[in-house]
Amino acid sequence: MDARSRRLVRIENRINVKALRAHEEGTRRRSVHLDRVLRRFAAALERATPLFSEADRLRLNPPGEDLPKDWVLRPWFESLARGRSKLPNLNVQTTRALLEAWLHPKVYCYSMVCLDCGLCRPELDPVALVGPPPCYDAPNFFACCPHCQSTRHNWTHLNEPTWEEVSG
Ligand SMILES: [Zn+2]
Repeated sequence: MDARSRRLVRIENRINVKALRAHEEGTRRRSVHLDRVLRRFAAALERATPLFSEADRLRLNPPGEDLPKDWVLRPWFESLARGRSKLPNLNVQTTRALLEAWLHPKVYCYSMVCLDCGLCRPELDPVALVGPPPCYDAPNFFACCPHCQSTRHNWTHLNEPTWEEVSG
């Protein structure tokens, strides 16, 4: 191998190592983030679920090893895990109001995220309420963020914060 090829290999190795380290760091940060979110989410649930009936408690915290695909809180939890929403320090009343909404039979497949505190909140299915679209001004669970009262919001699935924002 001539000197030029050796230099190229070294450069290639360095680039790969950098990319690998960045990838590992990204994976580590996501894992730390997920652990933290999981603990805080579980703690918030634990504080609020005693306020619910036995049947609702089973829907909020289903028994068994794996959570069912149609777990009522799956969209909320996934938005947290993916960094699309955040979990501010909710008081029990706000958590209760959110859980009541998530338990509603007409929850829309898309949720909203507050652009100020990052809280994800469910939406009522507009079609189920008032018929086929357009019906974008249908009444909803929350007129504003139930935590910080901000009216600035976006669809959760469109909110893609960087991991620096999420774990920072
Ligand atoms: Zn908010």
